[in-house]
Amino acid sequence: MKAPKTHKVCKACEREKPIEEYYMQGKYRAAKCKKCHQIYQKAWQERTGYIMPSRNPNPGPQGFASLSPERRSQVSRLGGHAVAIKGTGHRFTTETGRVAGKKGGLVRKKNEA
Ligand SMILES: [Zn+2]
Repeated sequence: MKAPKTHKVCKACEREKPIEEYYMQGKYRAAKCKKCHQIYQKAWQERTGYIMPSRNPNPGPQGFASLSPERRSQVSRLGGHAVAIKGTGHRFTTETGRVAGKKGGLVRKKNEA
């Protein structure tokens, strides 16, 4: 068993730095020191225009909300077609329809009171 390293040579600036100067990447320390890592990350962000979602204060719409209304409708329709073909979609019978209608009526009554 080797003694844990206390220092390590940075792959970017090639300077020997204490191990705390390296970010953890899973079980291991990163190859670049924190300073070099930040420089590298900034350059990469500028190159790609990508902002880390956790650092973006205004990420804008995501998922379905990021799609145009037409595209959203298209995708939703596909889901409807799929369950119709598979036959797994929910089908209301007179009985389940009546129960559901009653529940809705009760909520309305409660909200109006
Ligand atoms: Zn470095």
